[in-house]
Amino acid sequence: MLAEGTTKIKDYLTKTKLETLDFVINPYSGCPHRCLYCYAAYMVSFSKHAERWGEFLDIRYTKKKINLYKIKNKKVMISTVTDPYNPYEEKYKITRNVMEQVSNSEAFITVMTKSKLVLRDIDLFKKTKNIEIVISICTTDETLKEKLEPCSSSLSERIETLRVLKDNGIKTVVFISPILPGLTDYKKIIEMTKEYTDEYRFDKLNLRSSFKTNMLNFISYEYPSLVSLYYDIYKNKNNRYFEEISLEIEDYCRKNGIIYRNFIAGEKFAS
Ligand code: SF4
Repeated sequence: MLAEGTTKIKDYLTKTKLETLDFVINPYSGCPHRCLYCYAAYMVSFSKHAERWGEFLDIRYTKKKINLYKIKNKKVMISTVTDPYNPYEEKYKITRNVMEQVSNSEAFITVMTKSKLVLRDIDLFKKTKNIEIVISICTTDETLKEKLEPCSSSLSERIETLRVLKDNGIKTVVFISPILPGLTDYKKIIEMTKEYTDEYRFDKLNLRSSFKTNMLNFISYEYPSLVSLYYDIYKNKNNRYFEEISLEIEDYCRKNGIIYRNFIAGEKFAS
């Protein structure tokens, strides 16, 4: 059971310190996708909810129109701490309202989601001057996906979403993230999606707050053979695994003519 509410805000635009972006727009507070590793879970401390992360969703609402002049030639991401096309968007259409406004802008819009519902707004994406749709994928194993990301679209639905977007002439990006040590097969993800993907981005699994414990417990239970690797990375802070895979990915992309951006070692693509 999800607790639903409304938060009145002053402006949809939030300036960000992320190196790769100028503004972020989060149409919702909270995320019902309930990914086990969720990097946005720290947002629970900014909410008034007693419920845990994943168990509440607030519509962020304002009558103020988005200032299109302010975002001219700026990089704007929808969204960083929620999925803008979570299942409740079908009913509330807050993201659609935001998209209707920014579709008239000269901003560089990035939409990031794990949901096939994004296809509903193709009409608006086609009108938008600069837009890319980023679909994140961390595994090709549907069973593992169900355990890690229980409420988002399946892998096959995400691939179909990429296909439809591509067929409609919209730039598509696959964000291979989070890279789960010993579990994410990035080459297989590329093989399965390359026909419909213009660019790949990569980031590692970052573990924060209580979700670090949840994820480490999950690994202990489901993949006992990986426990020492995870403890070495997340308890002993040994970064060698990611340094090596980062170099390997860059080498693979260069040899295969793949356009990519690698966020494993440095700047952050999203919070
Ligand atoms: S879709 Fe993104 S914001 Fe939502 S739970 Fe998953 S990782 Fe967190």
